[in-house]
Amino acid sequence: MKKPHPSQIKAGKIAARVLQEACEMVRPKTKVISICAHVEKRILDLGGRPAFPCNVSINETAAHYTSPKDDPTRIPDFGLVKIDVGVHVDGYIADTARTVDIDGTLEGMVSATDDALAEAIKLIRPGVTLGEIGSRIHHVIKEYGLRPVKELTGHSIERYKLHAGKRIPNVKTRDTTTLHSGETVAIEPFATAGSHIMDSKSVYIFANTVRDVALDGITEKLRQHLRKRYGPFPFASRWIGTSHKSVNVPVELKKLLKAKAILAFPVLVEKKGRPVSQSEHTIFVSDDGPIVTTRLD
Ligand code: MN
Ligand code: MN
Repeated sequence: MKKPHPSQIKAGKIAARVLQEACEMVRPKTKVISICAHVEKRILDLGGRPAFPCNVSINETAAHYTSPKDDPTRIPDFGLVKIDVGVHVDGYIADTARTVDIDGTLEGMVSATDDALAEAIKLIRPGVTLGEIGSRIHHVIKEYGLRPVKELTGHSIERYKLHAGKRIPNVKTRDTTTLHSGETVAIEPFATAGSHIMDSKSVYIFANTVRDVALDGITEKLRQHLRKRYGPFPFASRWIGTSHKSVNVPVELKKLLKAKAILAFPVLVEKKGRPVSQSEHTIFVSDDGPIVTTRLD
């Protein structure tokens, strides 16, 4: 029978532990950058590497917020904080997220995605269709009087590939694609009382592409540095530039984007400004059913 690779188990344990620590740091007035820095440092200390920058997305920000350099943003007095942690060990990835309700008044939103995730996990076995999973998530979130976010999806994961091709919907679909024994997926329901999720103008997370175009001077040097350092894994603008103080990082990133040498992950926000909740686990599909690698034990 197929089993998860030991490095996949290790990545999952690190992610679960570090996510728990990060959630305990979510208190009014705590600096968001201190949570990001803690998560990224602890992942390294525990023998993993970040599979993407720590996301700390507050209220109507649904995902993809990580602190820029010198970020003054602090945790507010109430609302929802989504912490999303990615770890890899030798390319074996764990991706997990939770929502903290700061003052306890939006607990129903947290339960909605927690429940939807738990119910979706129960369906995981070889042969289950993506449509069945999405329909279950949709149904559970609707029972809480909320809307599942259709623009954001779970995803299959392969070694060194965070988004490996399959999209696991958070809404009812007729997708008959099935999951197979030995596959790994991240399931991540999002719920809101608002409507849609859209890109904002802010971008703090990027990833290398495999596109080869001619670049010159410092831009080319930076591209080579980013490729060598982060490979296929997303990185934060905050991470760049400690050893190259003469380089204007925002300007260089713009040039790399224009040349399509990197791609951007804009901060995602709910259109009407309503809070969004998220719950996520990474699951190995075994013949015996789901093996959740990111569960805290
Ligand atoms: Mn995630
Ligand atoms: Mn994910």
